Amino acid sequence: MAEEKIPEPIKRRGLMLVLSSPSGAGKTTISRKLLEREADLMLSVSITTRPKRPKERDGVDYRFIGQADFDRMVQGDELLEHATVFGNAYGTPRASVSQALDQGRDVLFDIDWQGTQQLTEKARDDLVSVFVLPPSTAELERRLRARAQDPEDVVRARMAKAADEMSHWAEYDYVIVNTDIETSVAEAQKVLHAERLKRPRQVGLRDFVEVLRAGS
Ligand code: 5GP
Repeated sequence: MAEEKIPEPIKRRGLMLVLSSPSGAGKTTISRKLLEREADLMLSVSITTRPKRPKERDGVDYRFIGQADFDRMVQGDELLEHATVFGNAYGTPRASVSQALDQGRDVLFDIDWQGTQQLTEKARDDLVSVFVLPPSTAELERRLRARAQDPEDVVRARMAKAADEMSHWAEYDYVIVNTDIETSVAEAQKVLHAERLKRPRQVGLRDFVEVLRAGS
């Protein structure tokens, strides 16, 4: 009997999974749980000029930098996208993302609609975008207040901005209404798992099928 040839795992190209939502819709919790459950998924840690909140860790949640350093990175073309949100500058460093994609790892982005538009222009084939909506305005406000990390005027400004941000839902590939966090995480995982199977992302398929055919 011929010796069975066990094929290598099929090589794939990583994808860029973008999550956007108005603040308070639950996107950060969904991101955290996705990262815990998906070993092949890594977070793109953004840079920002916003002051650090008490529970945040530099280099983990964001890299907190000054405006001069931010401008230097923009000028050096070190960012994949960047935008101003609530008066602070945010941006996605380029280097770690392209390396991860080439190694077949997926990258999660917690960025706003402006950044998503820029990534759509630059990397449509690698991009999978998901918009997270709150179940109601009252619930959105309740979550923003429960978070209690921001002063009152910031909460009010974020509520006012939410309607604006939500107008961009139709620019996204998928929409999740976050009524229940566990259901939403499971839905995001379904999106990720299905998108990984897209034929163009499975770059090792040609070799795999050749081995299959040679064995028959
Ligand atoms: P926060 O200050 O509450 O962490 O984030 C405010 C908003 O900025 C959120 O909508 C978040 O998704 C967005 N954001 C965070 N990092 C980036 C980034 O690197 N680029 C862009 N375009 N938006 C970002």
